[in-house]
Amino acid sequence: MSFTELRYHTLDEISEVYERLQKTFRAGKTRPFDYRRRQLHQLGRLVQENLSALEAAVGEDLGKPKLETVGELNGVIAGVRYAIDNVEQWARPEKVEVVEDFKKGWDATVYKVPHGVVLVIGPWNYPYILNLGPLLGAIAAGCTCVVKPSELAPASSKLMEELCARYLDPDSYSILNGAVPETTHLLELRWDHILFTGSGRTGRIVAASAAKHATPVTLELGGKSPVVIADDADLDLAAKRVLHGKGQNSGQLCVSPDHVYVPRSKQDAFIAALLKHYDAFWPDGPFHESARWGKIVNPSHHARLRALLSRTKGEIVRGGRYDGEARIAPTIVKNVVPDDALMEEELFGPILPLVPVDDMEQTIRLLNAQTVPLVLYLFTNSENVKQQFLERTNSGTLVINDTTSQLAVYEMPFGGQRDSGYGRWNGKYTFDTFTHLRSYIHVPLAAEPFMDGRYMPYTDGKYEA
Ligand code: NAD
Repeated sequence: MSFTELRYHTLDEISEVYERLQKTFRAGKTRPFDYRRRQLHQLGRLVQENLSALEAAVGEDLGKPKLETVGELNGVIAGVRYAIDNVEQWARPEKVEVVEDFKKGWDATVYKVPHGVVLVIGPWNYPYILNLGPLLGAIAAGCTCVVKPSELAPASSKLMEELCARYLDPDSYSILNGAVPETTHLLELRWDHILFTGSGRTGRIVAASAAKHATPVTLELGGKSPVVIADDADLDLAAKRVLHGKGQNSGQLCVSPDHVYVPRSKQDAFIAALLKHYDAFWPDGPFHESARWGKIVNPSHHARLRALLSRTKGEIVRGGRYDGEARIAPTIVKNVVPDDALMEEELFGPILPLVPVDDMEQTIRLLNAQTVPLVLYLFTNSENVKQQFLERTNSGTLVINDTTSQLAVYEMPFGGQRDSGYGRWNGKYTFDTFTHLRSYIHVPLAAEPFMDGRYMPYTDGKYEA
């Protein structure tokens, strides 16, 4: 658990920032491309010049290994570069080709205009990419933006507040810190868009508050993202890639492989492969200094995971050990049945239940009986199996033969479906999220001779094709 004290903003301070950002947006300050690019550049500098401090802060909050934080921060820098290079093209108005002859001379154009004053609410597990990633898209889109990071990662949230105040224009962008009362106050204000990342329970609160102002919302939620091992899968590589996905941030990742459906006849072979890679990943055990195995965010999440493990009817084949209230060893559980305690909710921790299945039809039935996950991981080389899962299952993303690498492809939209959320972000899609498509039509006065038929009185014979 972090020892940093996070000062929460007062409700007056929140209102003051809101008024300031409203004024800035109305004055048009954030619209020019030079301004957007300068602020994006500053956001890139913020990260690049403070890499060690940013790593240390998230290390304090989560004991996160440096290598994982470097990947997260590189993601922010890459996103900034991509936006700087492309923002002007993304924002270019699009001429529309009108089809009917009598409208040919009309100017029909779609303008890309910023939504306005937007709010980003983020979680604690990847505090930089999930707060600064949406912020960079809001900057690119020409919005002013408040970011409210999670109070459960106090060192990272405090540092982001200080650095943003130093690097970015305070008239346009602000990090406001707080817990439920402060977020509730933020949600009472009228925003032009809200992008929320977090749990489904909070997401529904956010969407309900936004509805009072008819504010559009993007919900990036969690869920139980399954892994399916098909009959023809390469078991050794699948085991390695699943364990690597589960190991990131001790399983506290929204796209963490939550549980595995494995053919009953292959469960033992899959476990053997998992154990081989377990020994290779953590040769001295996960609690040894060399393992760099991160913490569970706080004692209450630690207790939640311990309680789930104490209730499972499956058999623990490796792990199941705790380290005070801080860490839980990567834990593999076999022979888990679909209604086991480990299958009730998103695990969001380093527990990997293996659910034996009889065939692909049963797997598809089980998947379709679950809530729709953020991602479905499928290990197969069969075109037919891929096609079956594409057509007969749902998920935000479908990944074949790997876990978590979809996050590295910022040209792709990232988002959930139904229970795992709606809307999308990443790369250009974040720009689109904070952008309104404003249709513009200029009807030439010279078109008047062709319009006679539409005017009153509506006598017979008018409007005839
Ligand atoms: P959370 O919902 O508890 O908190 C998210 C944010 O909402 C925080 O900033 C918090 O302060 C605020 N919040 C919490 N309760 C609130 C309330 N009652 N009213 C108003 N605001 C409130 O989520 P978390 O624990 O920070 O994150 C874990 C969850 O987020 C998991 O379910 C995970 O799968 C999901 N997640 C999703 C993604 C994604 O991209 N889809 C990414 C990371 C995490």
